Amino acid sequence: MDQNKIQPQTDTYQRPVLSLRISITNRCNINCFYCHHDGIIPQEYEMETSEIERIARVARNLGINKIRLSGGEPLIRTDIIDIVSRISALNFQDVSLTTNGTLLEDYSQKLKDAGLDRVNVSFDTLNPNTYKFITKSNYLEKVKRGIKKAVEVGLYPVKVNMVVMRGLNHEEVWDMFQFCKETGAILQIIELLKTESCPDTDFFDDYHYDIGIIEDQLQKQATKVKTRPFMQDRKKYFLQDGEIEVVRPMDNTEFCKNCTRLRITPEGKLKPCLLRNDNLVDLIEPIREGYSDEELEKLFLEAIASREPYYGQC
Ligand code: SAM
Repeated sequence: MDQNKIQPQTDTYQRPVLSLRISITNRCNINCFYCHHDGIIPQEYEMETSEIERIARVARNLGINKIRLSGGEPLIRTDIIDIVSRISALNFQDVSLTTNGTLLEDYSQKLKDAGLDRVNVSFDTLNPNTYKFITKSNYLEKVKRGIKKAVEVGLYPVKVNMVVMRGLNHEEVWDMFQFCKETGAILQIIELLKTESCPDTDFFDDYHYDIGIIEDQLQKQATKVKTRPFMQDRKKYFLQDGEIEVVRPMDNTEFCKNCTRLRITPEGKLKPCLLRNDNLVDLIEPIREGYSDEELEKLFLEAIASREPYYGQC
């Protein structure tokens, strides 16, 4: 079946559902102090490889054309290569993965061979002390090698996700830009989001930095600015010698208006909204009870119909 010919489903606010972010584990091998865990409440079990593949196939049959694997840290699943090759065999337009990069040096080639198109690497600083403070780990050099390796094997684009935090790394944006330029990666700066899952409730006030300040500088220097409509209107600034993308906070009406994404939690629940956990639709029990693909499609449609803009009207 030519998946590109399937019309995407739209919700009651006329937002097309184009992508699925599958969180394949809650587990992570580092412990970033600001992590929002993708808004997912930890559970004890994870979907099996075949269940992830099944869910991706049903999504594809409903016109979803992009898959992103996330977590937790997706590369710590021992079946990650199998997961990627099964999903990429389903002919999505785009299969990508978000990783902390700690295992990327070892996995890049295997991921590329398995059919992965591109990768986003969360990497906030080039300073070893700051890296250790943020992640409670010493993987900085390993992550740098991982990013280089991902570029080298032809994953494209390789994006570096940098959460900008006041007093920690906000003065490092241009160094990171330089590192990305030299490596062949693209820098994506992200504004810190307030999160309830963070144990230190003061952390947002302590570290939040308005990246509008950086955007003003980018605006002055840019030769061109592009807005990405199906990507929450993210802005891409083209500079003389490279480009930078900017991800503004997600807790606003603009984000909701431009949201085209469904999510799956590690235990196999459809999550219609990043910011809510009260309207999840379980797929795993039905899969384990033997539901057909058509019956699973109905559950997807139920989740799509329940998509409400979290912040006001679209
Ligand atoms: N382990 C993978 C990784 O490190 O990319 C995937 C999970 S991580 C939760 C996904 C993304 O969320 C990362 O780019 C991370 O920087 C971002 N993130 C986590 N907490 C955040 C927060 N409070 N504000 C903004 N971005 C955050």
